[in-house]
Amino acid sequence: MTTLIYTHDDCLEHRPGPHHPESPERLRAVLAALEAPEFARARWREAPLGTREQVLLVHTPDYVASVEAMAPMEGYQLLDAGDTIMSPGTLQAVMRCVGAACAAVDAVIAKEASNAFCATRPCGHHAEADRAMGFCVYNQAAIAALHARHAHGLQRIAVVDFDVHHGNGTQHAFWGDPQLFYGSSHQSPFYPGTGARYESGVAHNIVNVPLSIISAGIDAHFKDPLGGLSLTDDDFHWITTELMKVADATAGGRVVSILEGGYSLQALASATAAHVRALMQD
Ligand SMILES: [Zn+2]
Repeated sequence: MTTLIYTHDDCLEHRPGPHHPESPERLRAVLAALEAPEFARARWREAPLGTREQVLLVHTPDYVASVEAMAPMEGYQLLDAGDTIMSPGTLQAVMRCVGAACAAVDAVIAKEASNAFCATRPCGHHAEADRAMGFCVYNQAAIAALHARHAHGLQRIAVVDFDVHHGNGTQHAFWGDPQLFYGSSHQSPFYPGTGARYESGVAHNIVNVPLSIISAGIDAHFKDPLGGLSLTDDDFHWITTELMKVADATAGGRVVSILEGGYSLQALASATAAHVRALMQD
């Protein structure tokens, strides 16, 4: 068994503007890095489109309807007060993100591979049930977790988030459900301002490890222009290996990984390669 890599060209068509850090070039850098000979063993799959039913596992019907209604035919549409922007290709891109994450869950549960990596964009962990936030439209990690429950009956599901930013959307989606675990390491104080240690969910099912100097996310890399942490490629390899050990001990080794942030193209490429290299050592 090996690692599956899900991606789709539609994820290059989310174009939030020429000066936006969450650029199509991010995904191009990741895909170029994963074309190296050492990854020839990985199996590539085209990400399917997610379904509205999958999106509704996390997001409210009103929000989903508003995203669909606001999707522009041309130009840009601002989804929040800050920097979450839709272009004509955005809706299709985010539905590929959702489809990739859910298909990866299906494939890993069906033992078609040891684990899977979703090379998709935009990121998702800031998206709340009823609003876009922080470059994120739909929360594909939270959706994939609930898909694992609804489609496959999994009882306990963990999302571990080493992005430099706290995943406020995933935390809120999991907060009231003791069967769902969310663990995050992130820079603090930093955007989005959530993720204090005392935020622990209804059953200590939320674990926040705010870090002031060294932490994890591809945007926790020392080269990242947005984050202020100092992780190296080796750290991303290490944390991936450690998470795989936990998954081996508790979840039959089943791991699905979803690209979130990372805004230095060079670091994104090299650290994603380190991450997938670790996944493939299963
Ligand atoms: Zn981030």
